[in-house]
Amino acid sequence: PATWLVYCRPGFEADAAAELAHRAEQVGYSGTMHQGDGWVSLELPDGEPVNVLHREVPFDSLVFARQSLVALPASMLSREDRLTPIIEQVVKSGWSFEEVWHETPDTNEGKSLSRLIKALTRPLESTLKKRGALRRKAGGRRLHLFWLDGDCVQLGMTFPGNRSELLGGIRRLRFPSRAPSRSTLKLEEAWHEFVPRDEWELRLGDHMQAADLGAAPGGWTWQLVQRGMYVYAIDNGPMEKSLMASGQVEHLREDGFTWEPPRRLDWLVCDIVDKPIRVLAMVERWLIRRWCREAVFNLKLPMKKRWEEVARCLAHLESTMASAGVRAKIQCRQLYHDREEVTVHVRLLE
Ligand code: SAM
Repeated sequence: PATWLVYCRPGFEADAAAELAHRAEQVGYSGTMHQGDGWVSLELPDGEPVNVLHREVPFDSLVFARQSLVALPASMLSREDRLTPIIEQVVKSGWSFEEVWHETPDTNEGKSLSRLIKALTRPLESTLKKRGALRRKAGGRRLHLFWLDGDCVQLGMTFPGNRSELLGGIRRLRFPSRAPSRSTLKLEEAWHEFVPRDEWELRLGDHMQAADLGAAPGGWTWQLVQRGMYVYAIDNGPMEKSLMASGQVEHLREDGFTWEPPRRLDWLVCDIVDKPIRVLAMVERWLIRRWCREAVFNLKLPMKKRWEEVARCLAHLESTMASAGVRAKIQCRQLYHDREEVTVHVRLLE
């Protein structure tokens, strides 16, 4: 296979494409970009294998990609017999897989394919088993069937440790009915994304202290309170009453860009809508002065060239931390619940 395929949020294909091109170039690759609603792919020239590139740019380091796959050539299918060409292509590839996932672009057309997919799932799996292409011990390799249409499917594969473990790369979360705003899901998703589940007790524990800049009406604060934390909620706007009744929130009508915490805190979170570089400069000050141990903040991206803006911000953050001698782990993703924005997580390492 010579093609690197990623899924992305529809409308952000240009950003995902710019990111892929940039990251490929950093490790010495270039090729032809293709894209459709909710996906982007980079095809290397002359059948150059893509596996090394796929490994050298790990999924976790990508911002706009929801999933990262090594793709086989797309197959056109006849409506009479969709299975045979798929099976032939899998067998011809010489690979065997532990499981098969059916996915579609995150669009209405994609959703409309669910009945077809349901009907094909069983017969496909049983034939693949008979042909030896689907078996229990296949190194955790997963075969993805990315349905672009009822008669066009793109086959791809992923490998353990270098992929999203979520169908379509989408983390569906239930909206907690008592939360003050829908944006509450962004912070919850960020924690799922950036904090391993077995470290939640330690890193998101009872009695920790946090600041939420741009907190109103309180969706993010609500998440912190749910974890048992005490929160400084900084916002000129009103906080929801029932959240204030928890007794865990101190609401201060101050400017999030200049407010300083009275003591070192565990967490800083920030959802202020402002220029990315302005938010970043403020968070950098917090980190360098070690006013918090971990931070989650969103960078709002109303501009056209979103990848360029994100790349500039991440480079700025890295160089600021390095020149201050502060070691930190930095991660950034466009989460499923993010719209024109990305979420950054920083954890100080000592
Ligand atoms: N995360 C919140 C939630 O889950 O409910 C929503 C935050 S909303 C997107 C952005 C908030 O930032 C607004 O309530 C606005 O008043 C606040 N804001 C804007 N500029 C600010 C500043 N300089 N200091 C503090 N808050 C600010």
